[in-house]
Amino acid sequence: MERVLVTGAGGFIGSHMAKYLKDKGHWVRGVDIKEPEFIENPANEFEVMDLRDKGNCLNATKDVDSVFSFAANMGGIGFITKVKADVMHDNVLINTNMLKACVENDVERFFFASSACIYPHELQEDASKIAYLKEKEAYPASPGTPYGWEKLFTEIMCESFTEDYGLETRMARYHNIYGPYGTYKGGREKAPAALSRKVAMAEDGDSITIWGDGKQIRSFLYIDDCMEATYRLMQSDHKEPLNIGSDEAISINRLADLIIEISGKDIEKEYDTSKPQGVRSRNADLTLIKQALDWKPTVSYEQGLEETYSWIEQMV
Ligand code: NAD
Repeated sequence: MERVLVTGAGGFIGSHMAKYLKDKGHWVRGVDIKEPEFIENPANEFEVMDLRDKGNCLNATKDVDSVFSFAANMGGIGFITKVKADVMHDNVLINTNMLKACVENDVERFFFASSACIYPHELQEDASKIAYLKEKEAYPASPGTPYGWEKLFTEIMCESFTEDYGLETRMARYHNIYGPYGTYKGGREKAPAALSRKVAMAEDGDSITIWGDGKQIRSFLYIDDCMEATYRLMQSDHKEPLNIGSDEAISINRLADLIIEISGKDIEKEYDTSKPQGVRSRNADLTLIKQALDWKPTVSYEQGLEETYSWIEQMV
């Protein structure tokens, strides 16, 4: 049994991970700037603290063997294109202070939640073809948002901490993780949760608003698949950043249609092209993770969205 710190354990992926590790028999300390929002007691011990502060990072990393780092100031495309300075400032502080605290407290292994947002936006501007993004395509670097630049910077920082201090680091480039027990309102929510909320709140005959023309292409990974892949990566010898996502491309229109079908309601779609919609086409290339971890997604969009929609429907 290992002693593990999960940061961001009050948020979506962090609270799932804390519970997943606790259920596997690890001793888990959860830390977040807020109490867990939706999962009760995800960790053995939970502390509210601001990880932008180095002293708090030192306290959080005391007596643990490994750290899963999910704490970040982040949200969906509407949030990260509006809040730029604070996203960079807060996340650089959290990640620099956490890495240094891990070294000072002799932590063995550090997991960093990077993002598909690090990939060059030029590779993702054509909605007529599916952009399967490979890990090696991250350079020459040209992320489309400050959020993406901060993630790329922290990947390099992880590699530097490994080289200079021997801290083992593992990096996942997550591609749109979704599922129940995550933010679904308030402005930080992402497309599957936002669309589920809109459909859950609509009546027969209403319409819901899609951001953009709905032809944007993405892929989404269900949270249970994300847990398994992340755990395998953390235990593996794979030191370079690795895509964790689904390679089943889906348009936002199709995603909305699936949620509407699950709801059983008669709902129309309308479009607001003045809203931020991100890149035109983004999908994960999973060649490397299949080789390195013998992992691939198992949950279909129908199953995953059913779980997500049912939970959000109850919440609203
Ligand atoms: P989330 O917002 O639900 O979780 C992040 C948590 O960090 C929140 O609970 C928040 O309160 C906490 N936090 C923020 N500032 C903090 C601070 N100063 N001190 C302590 N805690 C603080 O987001 P999530 O979807 O669970 O994402 C988790 C991680 O995965 C993030 O690093 C995110 O960038 C990354 N990621 C997520 C996705 C996705 O699709 N959800 C995709 C790519 C990368």
